[in-house]
Amino acid sequence: MLDALPKAAFSVLASSNSLKKLASRYGMRKPGSFARRFIAGETVGEAIEAARQIEKQGLMVTLDQLGESVASTEEATKATRAYAGIISEIEGAGVGRNISIKLTQLGLSVDRATCIDNLRRILDAATPGGFFVRIDMENSPFTDATLDTLETVWGIGYRNVGTVIQSALRRSRADIERLNAMGSRVRLVKGAYREPGEVAFQQKSEVDAAFIELAYLLLKGGTYPAIATHDPNMIAAVKKYADQHGIDKSKYEFQMLYGIRRDLQSSLAAEGHPFRVYVPFGTEWFPYFMRRLGERPANVGFVLRGIFSER
Ligand SMILES: Cc1cc2nc3c(=O)[nH]c(=O)nc-3n(C[C@H](O)[C@H](O)[C@H](O)COP(=O)(O)OP(=O)(O)OC[C@H]3O[C@@H](n4cnc5c(N)ncnc54)[C@H](O)[C@@H]3O)c2cc1C
Repeated sequence: MLDALPKAAFSVLASSNSLKKLASRYGMRKPGSFARRFIAGETVGEAIEAARQIEKQGLMVTLDQLGESVASTEEATKATRAYAGIISEIEGAGVGRNISIKLTQLGLSVDRATCIDNLRRILDAATPGGFFVRIDMENSPFTDATLDTLETVWGIGYRNVGTVIQSALRRSRADIERLNAMGSRVRLVKGAYREPGEVAFQQKSEVDAAFIELAYLLLKGGTYPAIATHDPNMIAAVKKYADQHGIDKSKYEFQMLYGIRRDLQSSLAAEGHPFRVYVPFGTEWFPYFMRRLGERPANVGFVLRGIFSER
C-alpha cells in the first residue's frame, strides 16, 4: 500500500513544518533512531566516525554536510566557513578527502558572484590537502547555473572539482558531452527531484534507458566517472559494457548512499570495484530524508515503527 504513494506526496510532506518538527524530535535522538539509517549523525565528528567504519570495510567515502538553499549572503558565508572547518577536521581525522556540496548552500540563488567566491574559498582550502570536491546537482532551475559555475572555476584552473548529471533530464546527453570534452569528473545519477515533463522523462523506463546510454558515454569518453545508483540492472549493464570494451575497473567507480543496499555495496567492493559511500550528516537532514522515503515508500513503515517504539 505504501509503495503506491507517489514521489510527489513526499515533496509536499517535505515542506510540512509540523512533520519536520515531529521528525526532528525523534529521528536522531538515540543511536538506533530511525533517521540514523540514512544520516550518519548531526555533527562532523559522527560523520567521521561513520566514515572510519566504512573505510574499515575497504570502501571510500564522500562527506556531505546537509543543508539546502540559503536566503542571504551572510548565511552563504557561514556555510562556506563551516565547510572550511569540516575540511580541516577531515584532514585531522585522516579519513578520505572527498566532500560533496550544494551550490545553493553557498548562495547560488542569492547572488552568483558570491557563490563563485565561496566555492573558490572552499577549493582553496581543499586543494593543498588533495581533496576532491563534488558539486551535487539540485533541481532543474539550477542546472545551467551549476554547470556554468563549474566551468568558471575550471577556467580559473581548479581541477579537483566535478559535478553530477541526472539521467532524468532530457538535456543530459549534451551536458555529458560538454563535461567529457572539458575533462571534468561526472557522477551519474537518475535524479532525486520531481521535475516537469518539458525538462524531464516521466517514465521510470525512460530514466533507466537514459541512465544506461549516459553511463556508456561516460565510460567511453569521460574522466573517472562515478556511477551512482542502487539499481542492480544499471550496475549489471555498466559492468557488462566495461568488460566488453576492455575498460579496467580502476577507470571508474560505483557510488551509493549511506545506509542503502549495504549488501550490494560490500559485494561490489569485494569484486574489486572502487566503491564510494555518500555520507550525509548535519542538523538539516529532513529534506534529504524525505527524498529517500519518496524513492522507496516502503521505508515509511520502518520510520513509523521507529517513532512509535520511541514515544
Ligand atoms: C552517491 C549518490 C549521490 C547522489 N547525488 C545526487 C545529486 O547530486 N543530485 C540528485 O538529484 N540525486 C542524487 N542522488 C540520488 C539519485 O538521483 C536517486 O534519487 C537515488 O540514487 C535513487 O535512484 P537509484 O539509481 O538508486 O534507482 P531506483 O530505481 O530509484 O532504485 C533502485 C533500487 O535501489 C533501492 N533503493 C533506491 N532508493 C532507495 C531508498 N531510498 N531506500 C531503500 N532502497 C532504495 C531499491 O532496491 C530500488 O529498487 C545520488 C545518489 C547517489 C547514490
